[in-house]
Amino acid sequence: SDMTPRIRADRSKLYMADLESALHYSLRVEAARASALSGAQLAAFKCYVAALVKYFPGRPCVQTYLQTLDGWLRNWTESELPRDVLKEAMKNNRDASNPAVLPTNVTWVGCQGSERHFRGYPCGLWTIFHLLTVQAAQNGPDKELPLEVLSTMRCYVRHFFGCQECAEHFEAMAAKSMDRVSSREEAVLWLWSHHNEVNARLAGGDTEDPKFPKLQWPPPDMCPQCHKEERGVHAWEEPAVVTFLKAHFSPANIYMDYAE
Ligand code: FAD
Repeated sequence: SDMTPRIRADRSKLYMADLESALHYSLRVEAARASALSGAQLAAFKCYVAALVKYFPGRPCVQTYLQTLDGWLRNWTESELPRDVLKEAMKNNRDASNPAVLPTNVTWVGCQGSERHFRGYPCGLWTIFHLLTVQAAQNGPDKELPLEVLSTMRCYVRHFFGCQECAEHFEAMAAKSMDRVSSREEAVLWLWSHHNEVNARLAGGDTEDPKFPKLQWPPPDMCPQCHKEERGVHAWEEPAVVTFLKAHFSPANIYMDYAE
């Protein structure tokens, strides 16, 4: 945000400040826009929080925050959840012996744009879902529930993502091929390759931050072994991409710079 000093982020790292900022914004702002949640929208919200509890590698106070919210949502059995009630349930509790805190400030570090209207939240949301698909692949049986995280993302985007046009594009990609994903590792690759499809579509457009041009990612200088040539045509070396994604989206690559 505007409060953040210009910082030189390392694009090979993830920053906890980006992840927590995106979580705060998605849970407390974006998902709490409707006057009440019900039906498929309430289910999508519960599903998102449950996936975060399972796979988000947060700090202890954030883990506790997510677990407390998840437990509270599981106990909410009425068909409608009014926004005011939800907002109250999403407040921090610092006093407890086991504090439940998700910082309320928004600080973009790796996701900081060169101007206020660039990057930020959408960058943070992509990062969260890449991290979740990778953590689900690292911490669960490969062939079981391969779509657990991807369908959570699909529902989240459909019901809550503020950019309507983005949500429609994403749903069209999901409807075309998401069902063919048959393992957790394929889910990691599905999200990576479809994010690259979005990058290609948006390259050179007016939402592109000129300081952060849309690339086919990871570019050769970040991962030389991810790239190859087949009869003079660029191709991805997928096993190397999987290895790269597992290292990039790992708890060990999350840095605490600028986190509250
Ligand atoms: P982002 O594309 O947000 O990427 C964030 C970070 O992820 C990058 O900095 C990089 O470190 C990493 N990354 C980049 N590519 C990959 C990859 N292939 N795999 C893994 N990690 C990667 N904007 C529109 O204008 N039109 C749309 O239709 C649209 N659809 C969207 C759909 C979704 C679901 C989301 C979350 C966002 C969408 N956006 C859309 C926003 C757009 O994709 C970018 O998020 C935004 O322009 C900010 O771009 P960025 O440069 O910060 O990088």
